Parts: sequence; structure tokens; C-alpha cells
Amino acid sequence: MRLFEAIIDANHRAVAGDANAGLHPVDYSDSLPVVALTCIDPRLNAFFPNALALPAEDFIWLRNAGNIITGTLSSTMRSLALACAVKGGKEIAVIGHTDCQVCKTTTMQLLDKLRALGVDRSRLPENINEFFGMFGSERQNILKACDFIRTSPLIGPKIPVHGLLINIETGGLDWVVNGYETLQLQSSANPPAADAPSPFSGPMQSIGAFKDFAMGEMKFPELKIGEAAARIENAVNQEIGQAEKKITQQIAPVVQTAQNVAEQVTQFAEKNWPKPPPIRMKPSPLPPKRSPLPPPIRPTRSDFRRG
Ligand SMILES: [Zn+2]
Repeated sequence: MRLFEAIIDANHRAVAGDANAGLHPVDYSDSLPVVALTCIDPRLNAFFPNALALPAEDFIWLRNAGNIITGTLSSTMRSLALACAVKGGKEIAVIGHTDCQVCKTTTMQLLDKLRALGVDRSRLPENINEFFGMFGSERQNILKACDFIRTSPLIGPKIPVHGLLINIETGGLDWVVNGYETLQLQSSANPPAADAPSPFSGPMQSIGAFKDFAMGEMKFPELKIGEAAARIENAVNQEIGQAEKKITQQIAPVVQTAQNVAEQVTQFAEKNWPKPPPIRMKPSPLPPKRSPLPPPIRPTRSDFRRG
């Protein structure tokens, strides 16, 4: 059994009441630490990382509202890339949750809430949904995030990218995307082309240190990442209009390939995993219910890795 298969197995046993359910992290040291992206919902605070039966030192935790990825080069994508490259993350998991309020908030409700906070609509982008990455289905949102990560040029092709959904009531985890199977599908269906165009070639090549940015080695010669980012930002601000247009043309073939893979993965997922339950649109009960304690699963203490 591979790491996340063992995690889900242990989680299901714990939720079913097995007090001895757990994981031996030392058996999976080649797959640790993991990088997880979850929602900001405070109800999740108590669940991680023990719902995964992992020790805290093997759990790199990224959070944003709705565990949303808005693009293959987005800010969250960069954090995921650095979590793998700098902090040694071996596998990535996008973990959505049931009863996500981002999912339940309509565009009109969001605009009302922002207006109540004094936010001026005229200073917001035209397409609010797209800008905030709003979504209507937790599972679809996870599928989309996994597709973006899997096809991002910032993530190595051998890193499994999983999608999971955690039940906010029970702490139970379910597969949405099995990243091991996605990797197999991808390598057999569309072996990566050695001469695929880089989304950074062309106009971006003229941007300072960025032209020396070697993806495989995460090199920023003579510059710390923060300094390089500042230079890139300045340069991008100047060239953004023209660059965006050219990049879009250049990555079109890559996006096409990515969409093929994404479609296959989605079809596979739809066929092999249970359909989501109907989404309840009723508002949260008031006053809020007490959240149950997370399931009592812990890594086996004697197998904790230190240092
Ligand atoms: Zn949420």
C-alpha cells in the first residue's frame, strides 16, 4: 500500500471506531513530508494532521479560502512548488471539506458582504467569480485544483498530486483524485514531450535573472528568491500586456495536452469514485453546532522520526 492509500485506510478504520488504527511513518519515509492545501475554515484546525495519522513534522500545511488554485503559475502554486523544492515535500494533497462556505456563497452574497465591509464594487475586477475562484461543488473544485497542479510547470512530473475530501462532521477522508493512478495514466497516455515549449520562453527571457531560472534545480543565480521575485515583478509590470499575449500563444499546445490529460482523469474519477451527495443549500444552523473531536488516530509513537 502506498502512503495515501495507507492514510485513507487508517482514517476509515479510525472513523469506524478502531482505537488502534494508525500509521507507521517510518514505513513511508520516502514519501514524507507531504504538502497539503486546505481551506481556511477554523473547523479544520482540530483535524490536521491527526486525521491523516501523520506527525506534525511530516505535514507541510498551506491554506487559502476554499483551497482554490486559480492557475498553473498562481501564488498558491508558487508556495506548493517551494514547499517541494525547499522543504522537501514528496507528495501533494488538495484536501477540500464538506459544508465549505466558499462553495455556498453566491456572487451576489459575496458582493453584499464586501459592500458591508466598505469595499467599493467599482474598484473590484469585472469577473468576481473568476477573480476569487468561486466554485459551486467541493469535488469539482478539488478536481480543478489537482489539474492545475498536475499541469503546472513548477511541479516535477514524479510528484503524486492527490485530491481528498474530508467530512467536517466525522473527520473521514475520501478520495477525489488518486494521484498515483493519475501519474500512471499520464505517463501511459501522454509521455511528456522533451521539446514542449516553456511558458517562460520568448518575452520572459529578457527579464533579468529570470532567464537563468533552471526549473529542475530551482536556481536563482546571485539572487535570493525574494530579490528575484521583486525584479521579476517590476519587469512584469512593465511588459505584462505584451507578454501575456505571447505567453498565451506559446503555451497553447501545452494547455491542449494538459486538457487531454485532465479530461481523462476526470472521466476516470467519475467512473471509479462515488458521485457526490446532493449539495444542501440551506444556511448553517444558528447557533453553530459543536464540532466533534477529530478521530483518535495517531502515528505509532515508537516510530516517530526525530530531527
Ligand atoms: Zn471551506
